[in-house]
Amino acid sequence: MENNKVLLEVKDMKVHFPIEKGIVITKTVGHIRAVDGVSFKIREGESLGMVGESGCGKSTTAMAIAQLQPLTSGSVWFEGVDLTTLTKEELRRARMNFQIIFQDPFSSLDPRMTAINIIAEPLKIYAKKGIITLSAEEIEKKALSLMEKCGLSSSFRDRYPHEFSGGQRQRIGIARALSLEPKLILADEPVSALDVSIQSQILNLLKDLQKEFNLTFLFIAHDLAVVEYFCSTIAVMYLGFIVEKTSSENLYKKPLHPYTQALLSAVPLPDPIKAKKRKRIILKGDVPSPSKIRKGCPFVERCSKAMEKCVSEVPHLKEVGEDHFVACFLYE
Ligand code: SF4
Repeated sequence: MENNKVLLEVKDMKVHFPIEKGIVITKTVGHIRAVDGVSFKIREGESLGMVGESGCGKSTTAMAIAQLQPLTSGSVWFEGVDLTTLTKEELRRARMNFQIIFQDPFSSLDPRMTAINIIAEPLKIYAKKGIITLSAEEIEKKALSLMEKCGLSSSFRDRYPHEFSGGQRQRIGIARALSLEPKLILADEPVSALDVSIQSQILNLLKDLQKEFNLTFLFIAHDLAVVEYFCSTIAVMYLGFIVEKTSSENLYKKPLHPYTQALLSAVPLPDPIKAKKRKRIILKGDVPSPSKIRKGCPFVERCSKAMEKCVSEVPHLKEVGEDHFVACFLYE
């Protein structure tokens, strides 16, 4: 994997939302720092998992990569092209190569469209714009083949979303995301709205599709067991920052950042003896507001190992072991 070419590179990406006050005359009184200086690379064929609590900036990162959310600063490079500099038309063409699978299969599908039309829609739009050349018959054939590949019988083609179960709806969403033959899939919590029994079926489907279509994934989840199963590399996010990034194996064997250690201590273990022996780390308080201006480490208020320096200086992500990056003064 290390020799594979870099498909996506995010450089110092910040996404801040203004907080406005006033009814007639509005005034910006602060900013929500949803993403606050995130950098990472994803190589071809890799599955990078991004984990963290709700509101830590994972989904905003995915939306900003897809250019569906403007960046406050930084850049997003896909196959060596900075997406933030593209015109609307150039971006439309580039978007064929990266598609999103959304969390909620209930609200992400148009209830007035049949399954076949939902899957074929991106193809129809790109064919109409002259970006791809496919006849109506070819589009239909491709959409039906994708339905089958995603585990849906083509006899369901004219059913509407409400006639499918949650798992089947997510399969439609996956087929739609694959219709333009993307290289990168931005999967935003693709299984968290599904029953546990269905989650593993969808994860297995995504793994099979990854092999068949040589897909690269940015896989966002809050469930560490899900990313351990699916991802080769994991980035842990906290309050808009990546605090640790390493291989899935390293992270589970030897988590370094105090936040990662706390997250992992809460993952249920199947072995009751091991579970009894393990010490659960309970974090103090709640995640602080991302609108608060802070000088030091974003985790300082909740960290049991905080030092004086942590209050006034921001730790940056540094390589402290082979392919193991952590943003914490304990490892300097
Ligand atoms: Fe804790 Fe300091 Fe490390 Fe931040 S830098 S995680 S406050 S020890």
